[in-house]
Amino acid sequence: MKYLKKSILEVSRFIQSGEVRAADIVTESINQIEKHNRKLNAFVTLADDALKKAEEIDRKIKKKEKVGPLAGIPIGIKDMFCTQGMRTTACSNIFGEFKPTYSATVVERLDAAGAINMGKLNCDEFAMGSSNEHSRFGRVDNPWKTGYVPGGSSGGSAAAVASRMVLGATGTDTGGSIRQPAAFCGLVGIRPTYGRVSRYGIVAYASSLDQAGPFATTVKDCALMLQSISGFDEKDSTSSKEAVPSWAENINSNLKNTTIGMPKEYFSDELNPAIRKVVERAIYVLKGLGAKIKEVSLPSTKFAVPVYYLIATSEASSNLARYDGIRFGHRIQSKEIDDLYKKSRGEGFGSEVKRRIMLGTFALSSGYYDAYFKKAGQVRRMILNDFQKAFLQCDAIICPVTTTPAFKIGERIEDPVKMYYNDIFTTPVNLAGVPGISVPGGLTEDGLPVGVQLIANHFQEQTLFNIAQALEENLKIEKRMPDGI
Ligand code: GLN
Repeated sequence: MKYLKKSILEVSRFIQSGEVRAADIVTESINQIEKHNRKLNAFVTLADDALKKAEEIDRKIKKKEKVGPLAGIPIGIKDMFCTQGMRTTACSNIFGEFKPTYSATVVERLDAAGAINMGKLNCDEFAMGSSNEHSRFGRVDNPWKTGYVPGGSSGGSAAAVASRMVLGATGTDTGGSIRQPAAFCGLVGIRPTYGRVSRYGIVAYASSLDQAGPFATTVKDCALMLQSISGFDEKDSTSSKEAVPSWAENINSNLKNTTIGMPKEYFSDELNPAIRKVVERAIYVLKGLGAKIKEVSLPSTKFAVPVYYLIATSEASSNLARYDGIRFGHRIQSKEIDDLYKKSRGEGFGSEVKRRIMLGTFALSSGYYDAYFKKAGQVRRMILNDFQKAFLQCDAIICPVTTTPAFKIGERIEDPVKMYYNDIFTTPVNLAGVPGISVPGGLTEDGLPVGVQLIANHFQEQTLFNIAQALEENLKIEKRMPDGI
């Protein structure tokens, strides 16, 4: 591997100057996939036109035609995004061999930017999970340590980038699914402000929480990718008309006028010591760079997990009603319509998805709606108010991403509540609709990556990139890539 060790920005320069052919970069990506995918199980469907697309880009460059900012960069797409003519399943059997007739806006925009889609990436079924153990294609291994989860739900995306099969990947983050796997795999991953990125063509999990975002190996690469996919889309009425800044070009790691809040509720005595060590070191480094550190309070954090699991499951139960065996994918034939629904859904959905449909249906049912779904909406507002108050006192918040480093495969699968409590530091961001980034903070003594989370107010992604860049430049992490890659 020669080029895929580098960043998107560096490889882009090589490709666009004609020094290296996009076809050579894509060939390197194909070789990396061949070398590592059998073990990691990150890709579930491979594109068959990647080389052809790369050659087309090389032709354009030779003729001095204009190419996009990601021209020739191999990337992967989480299997939650529709890709025209390419199997899309959300890693669920209910989709069968579904081939969409159109692509998600994110996929179209990446294509327009010149990125080469190498294929579809493994994830938890319908993006429900924190470990990538709930997939019809089987689990994903963490490239940093065999037998450990890569995080979820975008575990395939994180594993593919961490093993340098590709230079970037897309993810979706409904309750942490970009930030948590990025943290477990030593990558940069951002969940932008709700509305920044179009949800058109993304399999819906919980529509008021879902947002797409990128994974990459550096902060600037992540900014560059986010720039390419952000912005209003008339096909998604919740996408925002807010202008999209050139985040990557505007990154400024000077923190002299930046105040960073440290929420006291996130640093309780129960915080895992390995996580505390990394996050506190990051705070120390930021202080040394001139940032002001201030204690803030987010008192409603303790409600985030129950509120999230009520709202997410309720919305999921409604969104997943469309998979009835008639219109998409998997169908069990029957003369009785009710029986057809029951059998198709019974076979098509996995156990975690079924659990969530049942929880959500219950929370929405008459007699319980006020006590559960409605109440959750009210507490969600309190969580947003906490952030708004905190952002009167600081530009960004720093805190952990995860409660522990990557855990062992199988360790939490039998205990859903334990699994759900993994999401305590990530779900408040989704409930408030604000942006959050996970940036590598260092390694544990066992060599597992730990992430640091930065959170800013709505549409303040630039602040996140600036602080993240300062960390990337100054943390001096000795190892940024797993062994054997
Ligand atoms: N772990 C959370 C869940 O299971 C988050 C998933 C996500 O962000 N898609 O719902």
